[in-house]
Amino acid sequence: MSQIKSSPEKDKKTNSGDETSPSLDFIRTIIAEDLRTGKHGGRVATRFPPEPNGYLHIGHAKSICLNFGIASEHEKGTCNLRFDDTNPTKEDVEYVDSIQEDIKWLGFDWQDRLYYASDYFDRLYDCAVRLIKDGKAYVCSLSAGDIREYRGTLTEPGQDSPYRTRSVEENLDLFQRMRAGEFEDGAHVLRAKIDMAHPNVTMRDPTLYRIRKVPHHRTGDKWCIYPMYDFTHCISDSIERITHSICTLEFENNRPLYDWVLDELKMECHPQQIEFARLNLTYTLMSKRKLIELVEKGYVAGWDDPRMPTIAGLRRRGYTPEAIRNFCDRIGVAKRDSVVDIALLEHCLREDLNLRAPRVMAVLNPLKVVIDNYPDNQVEEMEAVNNPEDPGMGSRKAPFSKVLYIEREDFMEDPPKKFFRLSPGREVRLRYSYYITCTGVVKDEKTGEITELHCTYDPQTRGGWAPDGRKVQATLHWVSAEHSIEAEVRLYEQLFTLPNPAEARNIEDCLNPRSLEVLSSCRVEPGLKGAAPQSRYQFERLGYFCVDALDSSDKKLVFNRTVSLRDTWARIQKSQGG
Ligand code: ATP
Ligand code: MG
Repeated sequence: MSQIKSSPEKDKKTNSGDETSPSLDFIRTIIAEDLRTGKHGGRVATRFPPEPNGYLHIGHAKSICLNFGIASEHEKGTCNLRFDDTNPTKEDVEYVDSIQEDIKWLGFDWQDRLYYASDYFDRLYDCAVRLIKDGKAYVCSLSAGDIREYRGTLTEPGQDSPYRTRSVEENLDLFQRMRAGEFEDGAHVLRAKIDMAHPNVTMRDPTLYRIRKVPHHRTGDKWCIYPMYDFTHCISDSIERITHSICTLEFENNRPLYDWVLDELKMECHPQQIEFARLNLTYTLMSKRKLIELVEKGYVAGWDDPRMPTIAGLRRRGYTPEAIRNFCDRIGVAKRDSVVDIALLEHCLREDLNLRAPRVMAVLNPLKVVIDNYPDNQVEEMEAVNNPEDPGMGSRKAPFSKVLYIEREDFMEDPPKKFFRLSPGREVRLRYSYYITCTGVVKDEKTGEITELHCTYDPQTRGGWAPDGRKVQATLHWVSAEHSIEAEVRLYEQLFTLPNPAEARNIEDCLNPRSLEVLSSCRVEPGLKGAAPQSRYQFERLGYFCVDALDSSDKKLVFNRTVSLRDTWARIQKSQGG
């Protein structure tokens, strides 16, 4: 894999190019040219073709945004959702359902164009029979190992299968009997008859059909032979009259086969396959096979664990569809593999939440503070701004009383030079309320742990400013002990310790033991009582958090930290002068 990019394709282009006319990526350029020449009769038809063998991840989001995005940019553009469900051993309706939910959540709509490759099984079978009749396909009875052996290598040509010369009649008979269930898995396959010495290994008589005696989640027991991807995909595209079949680079070598099948079958509609580079993200595994391993070995709590790069995980973590779409827009599409810094994804999220998430105060590690000179039973409602970025979001009241909680790490008994927050004798501002000065520290006799602070407040500083103009060097968040409510907060870090976890020999070697930290006695503003699942907030000074969709309840609020406030992407950009 190539170097980690600190500046995405698109930014590069707009930085160097014409600012007013956004430059088209290479796929949109091809489509614009095809429209100009009338190649597909002025149509733009794309499709998103997931295999329902896992949940969608952020890489799929790139493909979804591209395919649905391109369709939406043209008046008569369409984008189909097609399940590429030809491998029943690995597929499941749970995945079919989750994929649809995730695409909708991302904000895209296939309207009435939901298709399944399995709907085409009859037609695919007919196509295979036509190839056999034309002498372009044969039943091969070599074992899987021998087929591999006969295939040759990148540097050596392959060898013809001894079954390559079977007569059309024999092939038709065997293929029909394969379908009828007369043979066990692996006994025979149907292969295209192309060229065993072809420089492109993919073209050396690829397998088109194999026997798999397993029921299918849609066709039940009807079939015991299943078509391979290379045979299914091009024909499905053609049946659906796709114009541009956009896929990832690993299919570049398969393009000649895509074209061969459609040409040999003389299909009326011949879509153009175009490959682009898949999304790779630092600190992220993106292959479904690896993600399944994480789920099955219990390293995460499920596909929607907030540490997972799945759409379901990102959603539960608190990501917005807007942030993900914006991210996909900014990374652009290119023909060369690269790795995008995860900091860019987080940056897009912060940008969105900064404008939309109301701010509240929450204390994750509470330290009790008693304001000795504050009247015992007094409660003041402090005016707190909901979002300084958006005055339209208004304000709320935060109750202030004699006993408060502040963040434990906002106090140090023996502060080093650069620690400007609370310490004995030091005055700080409490957000939206008063200046306080620390006058005493209470400790647990046995452990020495600080259990409580004593402070005085200056009644003249209500609202956070001193009439004599004296300055304080820190503003702390707080909640009222009596009024605040308890909450559990889950803090997340990257799941992996390596920027490229795919390089590790096995997953266990690079799992981050600190990827999840659960804090169970946090205190949040009373206004958060009954907060709706998935609602998002900025906890002042701490980050963006969202109410966990599954575990939060009226009895116990549970928040996920979506992302911290520290924007490493902005820092990278700054250091590059960009
Ligand atoms: P994985 O390798 O993660 O298992 P896949 O390619 O097997 O993914 P599919 O369900 O076949 O998963 O993918 C559906 C579509 O999404 C395909 O067109 C595929 O090219 C595209 N896609 C998958 N992963 C990425 C990625 N990381 N970046 C961009 N597009 C992707
Ligand atoms: Mg695939």
